Amino acid sequence: MRCDYHVHSSISADSKTSPDVQIQRAEALGLDEICFTEHLEIHFYRGAAWHVDLENYIEQFRHFDQSGVKIKLGLEAGIALAPEYFPELEAELRSVSCDYVLASAHSINNIDPFNPKFYEGKNIAQVFKEYIGSILTGIGQIDPQLFSSVGHIDFPAKGAHSEKDSRLFYKYAPDEIDALFKYIIPQGKCIEINTASYRNLDGFEVPGGDWLRRYVELGGEFVTFGSDAHMPEHIAYRFDDAVAMARRAGVKYYATYDRMAPTFHKL
Ligand SMILES: [Zn+2]
Ligand SMILES: [Zn+2]
Repeated sequence: MRCDYHVHSSISADSKTSPDVQIQRAEALGLDEICFTEHLEIHFYRGAAWHVDLENYIEQFRHFDQSGVKIKLGLEAGIALAPEYFPELEAELRSVSCDYVLASAHSINNIDPFNPKFYEGKNIAQVFKEYIGSILTGIGQIDPQLFSSVGHIDFPAKGAHSEKDSRLFYKYAPDEIDALFKYIIPQGKCIEINTASYRNLDGFEVPGGDWLRRYVELGGEFVTFGSDAHMPEHIAYRFDDAVAMARRAGVKYYATYDRMAPTFHKL
């Protein structure tokens, strides 16, 4: 598996790595394809910088060196939004000819998992229940034609909690996970296996096994793989483990995208 579909660069507010450095690293790793997924957050509580400058992004993209690795134009669209903002997000997404859109939630009620307040008075199961519930609320409000995959459903695993084992288990939020999968699968959308949480969980078996099995049980056949790299050393981080886990869970394919159209590759 040689495609990383979740890569950030200094085009996003939270990375200092120039896109060229990410591209060179992908090339050095022998990847076939990467997709930049710069942050598109509208009305984000952390400020306007989290809204990628689309014009500048597209202009830079045009000049990327594609000779070593194929590069796709993607966005990570924040869907933790008040209902009235969805038309604005949709209009922005329609204004760009993206290859891939990852729909992700980065906060609940303007608190993100990197703020210890996010976990106050809750155990990790409750945190996941709320977090996945908030993804579901957001995903239900966006035109399904405008996104490809749902990002990092285990996002709180890497936040500022005090849990030793913060992996996501299906039993934490079975209703929310089922509802999310039952909503996206019939629409031809998929789930991302995001290996960023692996970076904090090195002592444990890789996360995701049981919720991914449930995804397959409910008819999910394909996934996307993303490292969520904001630094070059994280590109394709532990992808071998992620692929092994996906195979064990029975996932048949991974997808790459071209102008929002998926191509399926056997796992
Ligand atoms: Zn980021
Ligand atoms: Zn994200």
